[in-house]
Parts: sequence; C-alpha cells; structure tokens
Amino acid sequence: MTTGEELRRYERQMIIEGFGREGQERLKQTRVVVAGAGGLGSVVSIYLTVAGVGKIRLIDHDRVELGNLNRQILYGNRDIGRRKVDSAKEKLESLNPEVKVEIVSEAILEDNAFELVDDCDLIVDAMDNFTTRYILNKVAINRDIPFFHGAVRGFEGRATTIIPGQTACLKCLYTRAPQPEPAPVVGVAPAVIGSIQATEVVKYIVGIGDLLTNRLLIYDGLSLEFMEMKLKRRPDCEECQHLTEGRE
Ligand SMILES: [Zn+2]
Repeated sequence: MTTGEELRRYERQMIIEGFGREGQERLKQTRVVVAGAGGLGSVVSIYLTVAGVGKIRLIDHDRVELGNLNRQILYGNRDIGRRKVDSAKEKLESLNPEVKVEIVSEAILEDNAFELVDDCDLIVDAMDNFTTRYILNKVAINRDIPFFHGAVRGFEGRATTIIPGQTACLKCLYTRAPQPEPAPVVGVAPAVIGSIQATEVVKYIVGIGDLLTNRLLIYDGLSLEFMEMKLKRRPDCEECQHLTEGRE
C-alpha cells in the first residue's frame, strides 16, 4: 500500500485525472527492464525512478568513458572508469530510495536475453544497436510483454510502442537495420526520446491516454518538427506473423 511519504512524494502526479492512488500503486507493482544505460537509458531510468515504478532492472556491460558525458546524464567526471550500472544504481537510489534498482553488467545476447528479462512486465529499448534491439523484440514477442522502442541520431530521434499481437513489431518496421551504429548524438536528442519512452511506460502502466502504438514518431531537432508515420503489422513478418490479433 502507498505510505504517507509516498503520498507526499507522488502527490503532484496522483492528482492528475485518471492517475490517483490506484495508478501509483500500479506503478509500484511494476517491474521494468531498461536495456542499456547510455543516453536513452539515463533519461528513461531517471524518470521511471522518480515516477515510482516498483523495480528497474538496468542492463549494461560498459564502463563510463569521457566520451559518454555529452549525453549520458546518469554519470559525471568522477564516474569515469566505473561500471555504468554501479554508478547508475547509486544515482537512481539517491533520487528515490523507494525504487528497487537491480543491475546486470552483461551484454544482451541471444542465449541470455530470455533469462535477463525474466519476471519483468515490460522492456524499454535504450540500446544503440539493432542487433540487440532485434533480440529484445523477439523476447518481448515471446513473453507477450510490451516493448518501448527508441533510437537517436544527431539531433533526431524515433520512438514507437510495440504491443505483441496488436501492433507492428520492430521487425515489421525495419526488416533490416536502418543505419550503421553507433551514431553521432547531441545530448538533447536522447533527452527528448527517452522522455517520450518514459511517458509511454507510465501511461501504459497507469492505463491512461493513447499509446504510440502502430505509429512511429519521428523527431527532428534541427527543424524542430515532430512527424508521425502510420505502421502496420507485416503479414510475413518473421518475428510476429504467428501471433493472432484480437486482444486490442
Ligand atoms: Zn512483426
């Protein structure tokens, strides 16, 4: 149950229409995988932490480098050389000790991915490469849990929310990796896209608003435009064609 301290901490969001104590309780019961603790992962994990999700499992096998600091706002100079997940856990727990932060310092591969997302309710894609994104897409479909995709490049970014069996999956959208990575990035691009992913996760859990499903949001920071592309499931999609519709 929500405690007195929690009531104060989350007051300003709980007074949003349709949110309430019930929404906060739902957040508290939810276990989230954040795959990647880089630019997107920093923003997503910070906002899910302050929103009060129950558990975040943060997965990343890198160490902090100077070249990360233009965009990976979980870290500072003194973290250089440390495992990202260790610095991240400290930072996130200092922001909100109510949230359980589990860390995994491993690469996400075909043979460990299922285990890594075990027991979790949804996956946030905060990766910087499509090889891993495709693995996570497959796991999300197999586990029948939502997958919140985000990607950035330069001043641009993209996001979509994937609900297996109901929406286009990542393979429906990109049959093959759209561009080589790692990409050039300015820090504000993951700030925008990571915030959108976190917004989607909170809405999904609380059960309010309309999700970014079957829509690809394309953000261009240089022209400052948000565009949207309608998406459809691909009947011959190698990942999700076997799923039946009808749960929408
Ligand atoms: Zn598909």
